[in-house]
Amino acid sequence: MAGIVTFAEQRDGKLRRASLEAVSEARRLADALGTTVGAVLIGSGVEGLADELAAHGADEVYVFDDAALSRYATEVWARAMAQVVGDAKPKAVLVPFTAMGKDLAPRLAAKVGAGLLSDVVGLAVKDGRLEARRPMYAGKAYATVRWEGDPQMATLRANVFALGARDAARKAEVVKGTVDTAARARATAIHATAEGKLELTEAQVIVSGGRGLKGPEHFHLVEELGGAFGAAVGASRAVVDAGWVDHQMQVGQTGKTVSPTLYVACGISGAIQHLAGMSTSKYIVAINKDADAPIFKVANYGIVGDVFEILPKLTAQAKAYFAAKG
Ligand SMILES: Cc1cc2nc3c(=O)[nH]c(=O)nc-3n(C[C@H](O)[C@H](O)[C@H](O)COP(=O)(O)OP(=O)(O)OC[C@H]3O[C@@H](n4cnc5c(N)ncnc54)[C@H](O)[C@@H]3O)c2cc1C
Repeated sequence: MAGIVTFAEQRDGKLRRASLEAVSEARRLADALGTTVGAVLIGSGVEGLADELAAHGADEVYVFDDAALSRYATEVWARAMAQVVGDAKPKAVLVPFTAMGKDLAPRLAAKVGAGLLSDVVGLAVKDGRLEARRPMYAGKAYATVRWEGDPQMATLRANVFALGARDAARKAEVVKGTVDTAARARATAIHATAEGKLELTEAQVIVSGGRGLKGPEHFHLVEELGGAFGAAVGASRAVVDAGWVDHQMQVGQTGKTVSPTLYVACGISGAIQHLAGMSTSKYIVAINKDADAPIFKVANYGIVGDVFEILPKLTAQAKAYFAAKG
């Protein structure tokens, strides 16, 4: 029975990267605690994904595979997870901090009587128990928190926990389960507004634009740099509220929380609410004509200058660089 259980979210038969990060982190913690890792896979025709979870460190994969599970329903997913938690009695349960994870984790925590820490950005083992680091007050401060009792349950911010080395030779025991699929509400269709676009929360590179772009007719400058980098494109709330771009591109306290390897902020002042959504990015590059803009306080590299001059040059350089690299 697994000592740490993770929720392995899949979409359209593909595991989300955040699920693999959760399994990788569970593996690291389990090794330190001397216990095992279980991953819970729920869906229709998903059993084949168990190998990928094993390759990232799962010892056991609990599979609920049923045609009636093709669409997410909070109650059913929470019921299946609670069944596993009830049987395995793990020390910890880790769920990715994705839209689905945010919906599922509180219900599961209530069902199994667990304390839940959300949006955790660091985990460590101290005296045989877990210790978590999580942002508070929209990222103005970080708290180190411990749980009382088991299971210690957390949702993990995407892109913060490193993927472990993939080992295709690793095998997991597959434990098949069945769950009552009755639900008072379930998703009947998914209307993807960002068809073909990179998902911000999973992107390794993000180029974001703010009010410094002056108007929607100039936002293509941000999109072109994003295109050259193969990046996802984000925005500040100011430009979302002004109707230049869709709300799903908003980064920040009331938008998406992102943590890419590289975040390029173009004409964004760096208000605390924007920083709340991106300050855990590994490298931050800011382009702003105001040398005193708060974004420079969190930036690793800053360019004090005009986005209208700098963005076309950066885009041309990036295109030339990647073309030369092949
Ligand atoms: C409850 C609440 C929640 C919020 N949630 C969010 C959120 O989730 N995300 C978010 O982003 N904001 C959020 N905000 C809004 C936030 O406070 C800021 O108003 C917003 O982030 C500002 O967006 P901006 O940086 O694009 O615009 P501005 O603050 O107007 O900054 C524009 C920047 O562009 C620079 N600039 C101007 N011209 C150029 C040029 N030619 N070249 C280079 N630089 C130039 C300026 O120097 C300036 O620093 C929230 C606010 C509240 C009250």
